[in-house]
Amino acid sequence: MSHIDKFLRKGISSLKAYIPGKPIEDVQAELGLSDVAKLASNETPIGPSPMAVEAAHRELAKINLYPEGPATVLRNKMARRLSIEPEMITFSNGADNCLTLVSNAFIDEGDEVVMAEPTFSCYQTLTVIMGGRPVQVKLRNLTHDLDAMLAAVTKKTKLVFVCNPNNPTGTIVKRSDLERFISRLPGHVLLVLDEAYFEFASDHDYPDSVEYIKKGMNVIGLRTFSKIYGIAGLRIGYALGSSEFIGALNKVREPFPVSRIAQAAALAALDDDDYRAAVLKNNEEGKAYLMGEFERMGLPFAPSQTNFIFVDLKMDCRQAFDSILRKGIIIRPGHIWNSPTCARVTIGTMDQNRKFIRALEECRG
Ligand SMILES: *Cc1c(COP(=O)(O)O)cnc(C)c1O
Repeated sequence: MSHIDKFLRKGISSLKAYIPGKPIEDVQAELGLSDVAKLASNETPIGPSPMAVEAAHRELAKINLYPEGPATVLRNKMARRLSIEPEMITFSNGADNCLTLVSNAFIDEGDEVVMAEPTFSCYQTLTVIMGGRPVQVKLRNLTHDLDAMLAAVTKKTKLVFVCNPNNPTGTIVKRSDLERFISRLPGHVLLVLDEAYFEFASDHDYPDSVEYIKKGMNVIGLRTFSKIYGIAGLRIGYALGSSEFIGALNKVREPFPVSRIAQAAALAALDDDDYRAAVLKNNEEGKAYLMGEFERMGLPFAPSQTNFIFVDLKMDCRQAFDSILRKGIIIRPGHIWNSPTCARVTIGTMDQNRKFIRALEECRG
């Protein structure tokens, strides 16, 4: 037993710290490049919403005051948009922090938590932190295998995470499949639908957590301002559910989890329809281009309903990562998801996409 293990709570020593996408600043310093594009963390490539930036500036004059704890103004506005009660929403410091609230409120020692593999890595980490047991069910055809996940549910199962669309593959589970799954879930299981990419999903069979929440099902939905709303740097996301489930999250929440600046920017971003339309347009154009290029190069990829594509580069992903990095493009190598020839590539601006494809072609020789 190492020195630190004597101090740690059970299970923590086996954990590995989250590996984020490589920061632009690191790459600039290490390689002496000035022009670096990060296609590694699914941020919006066209800059933030101008309306959000302006609102954030205005709010600066008030930062001597604590923010509103429950983000009341924003919560009321979101509730009206979704036609639900404000008590059915809680805002926190990113959807990541909403996941922490979910695990703090619901995962007891010994609870089993069913999730896909690969999926968003926080589900596993948070489960282990709480002393729960992650039950990982392999994807089938790069999407959630709901039948196998249902078969993995036992008396000890407390939560099921379904990341829809799934990160890192970008695939969705369809409404009919999800509804069949929900109808068969036993009453002691809470389904958490992580919808971080909700606004990017255009498939008409894509389900919406709010429908199930309105029907009183044991469902929590998670969404964020980091992806389509373009304010990842401010850290704001939210959880949706019955007032009972959301009330439980509020019990374990910190008093002031969302800064004034984040609340003001989110409020403004909600009204910036032009910005969201521009993000979607850039994304559709870039997605079509990248898919066409991957097809031309004979590289298989998952059908994406998001702002990223999971592609098989048919070469060692770390070698590809290094070589593409030297051209000033950061991607996410697949070995972190046990897919050593794959990569997750955020759809960038068309300039960035073309630069990425050129770099990829050069390293494939
Ligand atoms: C980006 C992402 C999040 C985290 O969003 P934040 O609001 O930035 O914390 C959560 N879940 C998934 C699947 C994501 O891709």
